[in-house]
Amino acid sequence: MEVRAMKKSLLTTLRDKHTSIHQFRQATEKISFLLAGEAGDYIKEKIISVETPLEEGEGKLLNEDIVIIPILRAGLAMLPAFLRFYPDASVGFFGMRRDEETKLPHLYYQNIPPLSPDHNVIIIDPMIATGGSGALALEKVLSKNVPDSNIVYVGIIGAPEGIEKIKQTAPNINLVVAQVDERLNQDAFIIPGIGDFGDRYFGTE
Ligand code: URA
Repeated sequence: MEVRAMKKSLLTTLRDKHTSIHQFRQATEKISFLLAGEAGDYIKEKIISVETPLEEGEGKLLNEDIVIIPILRAGLAMLPAFLRFYPDASVGFFGMRRDEETKLPHLYYQNIPPLSPDHNVIIIDPMIATGGSGALALEKVLSKNVPDSNIVYVGIIGAPEGIEKIKQTAPNINLVVAQVDERLNQDAFIIPGIGDFGDRYFGTE
């Protein structure tokens, strides 16, 4: 199966309201691993020389200074797959809660390792809905002098409004999503979407 078809099939499992929590977690792990690979296209490489058993040649290594930042809570669901892909990465956290009335994000927790312009930062959050929490997370990272071209923002599903907001906040950002859906409903849920990702993954619905 092609990677594109695999992502569509995993998305279908995630969307289906009859999917069990076990299947939901497995599909999250698999699609996140595929997206982690796509994010790699935007990570800086360094050229090194490598000695094969036959001769010395040129090799490439990924930047060692990768920081993965899941946006709590749902972003945590993607973290195990990203750490499998980038086992040497550091991890930071932004805890964001959406005010259900104003729909605006509230930052209640932040624990980010020191960042420099040489870092590659991967922000993970499965649902890019209004883009409000993503934009707030980006502002925090940009304020540490990481250029937006060194940031990859990874979601599983995005709404057009959310994607636009992310791009407005960081015009040169690298965006990776498995699917852009139709729209947001009046409660800022993505349609057709998945429902509440965190509730389905953590079993709290
Ligand atoms: N967060 C979710 O979990 N689902 C949505 O549809 C939007 C935000």
